[in-house]
Amino acid sequence: MVSQFEKMKAQRGEISKKLVGTMARAARNSSPIVEGYHANPRALDALVSTECSDLAKKIQDCSHGARCQSPYCRRCRPMFVNTVRNQMLKNLKSDDAVFEAQTGKTANIEDTNYSNFMNNKLVHVSGYVGLFSINAGLVKSGIKCDRHRWKKIKERKTNRPFWIAGNYELELVNFKLLLHTTNEDNAKKQKQIRQIYDYSKQQGWIVWHEDAALLLHWHGISNASKDTLTEVIGSDYYMDGTKLYNMHESGLFVQKFHLDKPFKKNLDKISSYGIKNATRYKHSFIGSDAGDELMLKQELSDLVSTYDEVQGRNWRSLMLSHTIG
Ligand SMILES: [Zn+2]
Repeated sequence: MVSQFEKMKAQRGEISKKLVGTMARAARNSSPIVEGYHANPRALDALVSTECSDLAKKIQDCSHGARCQSPYCRRCRPMFVNTVRNQMLKNLKSDDAVFEAQTGKTANIEDTNYSNFMNNKLVHVSGYVGLFSINAGLVKSGIKCDRHRWKKIKERKTNRPFWIAGNYELELVNFKLLLHTTNEDNAKKQKQIRQIYDYSKQQGWIVWHEDAALLLHWHGISNASKDTLTEVIGSDYYMDGTKLYNMHESGLFVQKFHLDKPFKKNLDKISSYGIKNATRYKHSFIGSDAGDELMLKQELSDLVSTYDEVQGRNWRSLMLSHTIG
């Protein structure tokens, strides 16, 4: 017979999980959240309220002669998206040549045959680097580490050439609440975040006892098949020797292009995918209303400031473009 004590022991984990969640929620409810309807006023409000008026002024005074280049600027975000799109188009040239050789037609993005060819040929790929304490220096070291990984991949001999192009993105994740909240919708994300968190701690990227951290990852397109990615990348994107939950065999997240949409539309969508001007958490960690949780002023201010410190001129430090083989 199971004693009352044994039952309590079994419940202990659940109870402590709930308690941490309740305490974290109470702490959040007493902190100011961002104001304003759109991303831009919210970012400005957050910056001004947290003694980052210089950056707020830079974004507010953005002009033709002095672009602020913030993803939270109405004028600069489309330019950032365009820069990523152009980088993707540049890589497409080798595939254009294949299309022209196969069909005898000129590569033209408006052409249906070309559109179908590219939609079938390319894949949308995403990769996780790790979780970082909110600090530009740490995030920069993470990007450096990821670039080094690609350098090593390039150095290995392969007869399966491919290219990949996209950009790095920073996503604010309240991992403490996520890990302590029992929510069916979050189960998958929770499992992934646990793996990434443990790995990032080992790497020395999570250095404080904060609630939120930056999830450094990238989104891009590639002309590699899934088999090619598996063979060439091997286990380089595994964390601590283990493939991340819910990922493709290559350790990356690989999606097909939408075959029912024109290639041009798919390209536009993916090139802006990794350039969000988020002011809410993508995954709600407090309730079950996914995407409804606004960031605290301090959190949004930290996110906007970290982008400003990390991205480099013309977002150069956030660009990802590699040719393998
Ligand atoms: Zn601007």
